[in-house]
Amino acid sequence: CGIIARVGSGDAADTLLSGLENLEYRGYDSAGIAVQNGSGVKVHKTSGEVDDLKSTLETRPSGNIGIGHTRWSTHGPPTEENAHPHTDTAGDVAVVHNGVIDNYDELRETLREKGHEFESDTDTEVIPHLIDEYREETGDTEGAIRRAVETLEGSYAIAAIVDGEERVYAARKGSPLVLGLDDSEWFLASDVPAFLDHTDEVIYLEDGDLVVLEPDTYRITDLEGDPVTRAVDTVDWDP
Ligand code: GLU
Repeated sequence: CGIIARVGSGDAADTLLSGLENLEYRGYDSAGIAVQNGSGVKVHKTSGEVDDLKSTLETRPSGNIGIGHTRWSTHGPPTEENAHPHTDTAGDVAVVHNGVIDNYDELRETLREKGHEFESDTDTEVIPHLIDEYREETGDTEGAIRRAVETLEGSYAIAAIVDGEERVYAARKGSPLVLGLDDSEWFLASDVPAFLDHTDEVIYLEDGDLVVLEPDTYRITDLEGDPVTRAVDTVDWDP
């Protein structure tokens, strides 16, 4: 199972797909990507392999901001519906997740009562709906994500994109997430090989870190919203 995300210029899809291929060694049963280009979030996913995902894409979706996932099913069989990314009802918020959300059942019931419609059997799907719900209340996506991760019980590395926002949001608790820094391109992944073709400058994120990647800048804060400084490492890794 693995996560990849990319912020930079030019289309993200090929970088996301090759990042996922570089994470195949971790094992998985389905794969997907989502990109954002200012006119909607586009999700493409399938059961099976990254190769199968590629063959469902006649042309690569355009968008410079994107997230990708290889899934190792814990909740729900390895079907296309259960593959990540998952979205909220309107499809404005897309999320990939590694880990397990222990309180998803009660969260899903509460969200259903508020009108949210669910399409998968996964624990993950509550996350985009929760972000959407909190965003509706305040209009503040970063605050909504902070509140959503505080509501989640269990383990997670997540990455999210939102329609119309040139950003990737990410957070972790109990599942790995590493930031890759190139000159004009940022990456997030479960493990370094995902982006080692591009850069060996990394920041290993810690539990409770919330990251916002934008084209020219990135910031890491804690769950209270206070800035956090993490060391940049150079990985010495023979691919
Ligand atoms: N629990 C989630 C699911 O079953 C994520 C699994 C994973 O880490 O790939 O979809």
